[in-house]
Amino acid sequence: MSIETRTAERRAPVSAAADAERWEVTRNACIVCSPLGATIVFAGVERGMTLLHGSQGCATYIRRYTISHFREPLDVASSSFTEESAVFGGANNLRIALANVVKEYKPALVGVATTCLAETIGEDAASVRGALGLGADGFAKSADADAPLVVAVSTPSYRGSHRDGFRAALRALAEATNPKNANATTGAETGKADFSSFSAETRSAPFPSTVAVFPAMISPADIRSLKAIFEAYGLDPIFATDYSDTLDGGPWKAHRLLPEGGTPVASLSRMKGAAASVEMGAGLSPELSAALYLETAHGVPRKSCGLPIGVEATDAFLASLEAVSGKPMPRSIAAERARLLDSYVDGHKYVFGKRALLYGDVDFVEALALFLREIGIEPVFPEGEGRDFFQAEAAARQSAADGKPVDIVIGSSKGYKTAGKLDVPLVRIGFPVHDRFGGQRMRSLGYGGTQELFDRIVNALIERRQEDNHVGYTYY
Ligand code: SF4
Repeated sequence: MSIETRTAERRAPVSAAADAERWEVTRNACIVCSPLGATIVFAGVERGMTLLHGSQGCATYIRRYTISHFREPLDVASSSFTEESAVFGGANNLRIALANVVKEYKPALVGVATTCLAETIGEDAASVRGALGLGADGFAKSADADAPLVVAVSTPSYRGSHRDGFRAALRALAEATNPKNANATTGAETGKADFSSFSAETRSAPFPSTVAVFPAMISPADIRSLKAIFEAYGLDPIFATDYSDTLDGGPWKAHRLLPEGGTPVASLSRMKGAAASVEMGAGLSPELSAALYLETAHGVPRKSCGLPIGVEATDAFLASLEAVSGKPMPRSIAAERARLLDSYVDGHKYVFGKRALLYGDVDFVEALALFLREIGIEPVFPEGEGRDFFQAEAAARQSAADGKPVDIVIGSSKGYKTAGKLDVPLVRIGFPVHDRFGGQRMRSLGYGGTQELFDRIVNALIERRQEDNHVGYTYY
C-alpha cells in the first residue's frame, strides 16, 4: 500500500452525523473515582496504607488503575462490605479491617477513604472516626506508642473526581498531623498570613528553611525535580505526599508489604513550624486547601500557584522560593532557563499558529493553556469542566468550522480515541498515561520539565508532517 493511500485512509473524515449515531456510555471513566486520588496521597507517606471503607471491587479497581500508570505494586485494603453491611452498616467490618491491616502491615499511617457505597448509607469520615473511637487528630485515646496514625477522609465519587479526593486527603493529613490545639511554637504570632509580603527576615519560624509543599497529582519524576529545585535554594521541603520512591522505585530482592520511601509522619507534624507553604493547582476551594488550613491554624504563610509549566509560570514559582530563602536563582537553574528560551526560538517555526485541544484535570489544563500561549499555540477547550470527550470533540469541530482546525491534542491517555477521530497526534500528559510506557517518569514542571514537554510537542508535530510527506524523510 502506498504512503498516499495509507494517509488518505487514515485521514478519512468522521462526520459529526456518523459520530452522533455512536452512543458511548462511558465518556470519561478516568476522573470519576475520588478515593483513587486519596490512595495516591496515602501511598506518599512513609509506611502509609489505604483502607477503603466500602466494597472490595473499589479496591481492586483502584489498584488495577493506579498500577497501570505507575507500574508499581500497590496494596489497598477494604472493609469489604457485604449485602448485610450495605443495609445495616459497615462499622464492624471497618474495625475488623483496621485491626487486620495494623497486624499484617504494621503501618505508620492508615488512611481510611470512604467509597460511594459507604457514603450513600451515611458512613462518612465523621462516622468512620466515631466507629474507630478516634479524636480529630486521628489517634485513639488508648493508643500505644506504636499505634499508627489513622486519618479518615470523605471521598464520595459523586461529589468529586480523583483530583478532589487527592486534595481532600492532603487536607485531612495536614489537619491530623498538625492539629489546631498542638502545643507547639507555631510562628503564628508573626501574623504573616500574606505570602506576598513575606520575607525570610520578618518571619521567625521554628524551622526557618522548611517549606510545606502541597503538590497536585503530578508524576513521581516531577516530585523529584521539585525537590531538587527547593534544595538548590537551600530549602528543606516537606512534601505532604511524596510518592517519588513508593510509586516509582527500584526492584525488590524479596517481597515487601509496603515499599520504602514516602514522607515520615513525624515530618508531616513539622509542617506547622515551616517558614511557608506552597500549594500547587488551580481553583482550589477553601475547604480542600491544606495550605489555607496551615495558615489559619498555625500562621504559616502560603503561596498558591498554578503548576509551573512554561517560563512565566516557573519564574513566578521560583520568585517565591527566592523570597523564602533569600537567595537568588542558582546558576544551574538559570542555565536551564536559558536553554529553554533558546529552544523556544529554535522550535518557533514548528509551533507558532497551531491549535491544541486541551482536556483533563483543571490543574494541568490551566497551566498548559498559559504555556501554550507562551509558545504561540492557541488552546481550544471543551465546554463545561473540560473532562467530557464528547464536548472536547464538539469544541474541535467548532474550531474547524471556524477555519481553525486542531493540529494536536494534549491530555491523558484517555484522549486517544478523540485524537484518532480528529486525525491529529496526541501528546500524553497528566493522569492516567497507561497506553504508553513511562507515564510515571514524564516531566513537565520547572524549566527542565517544560523543556521535555516542549520537545515532545514539537516532535509530535514534526512526526505528523513527516508521515504525511510523500517524499518520506527530509529535514524540517
Ligand atoms: S469509590 Fe465509587 S467510583 Fe470509585 S470504584 Fe468505588 S464505586 Fe467506583
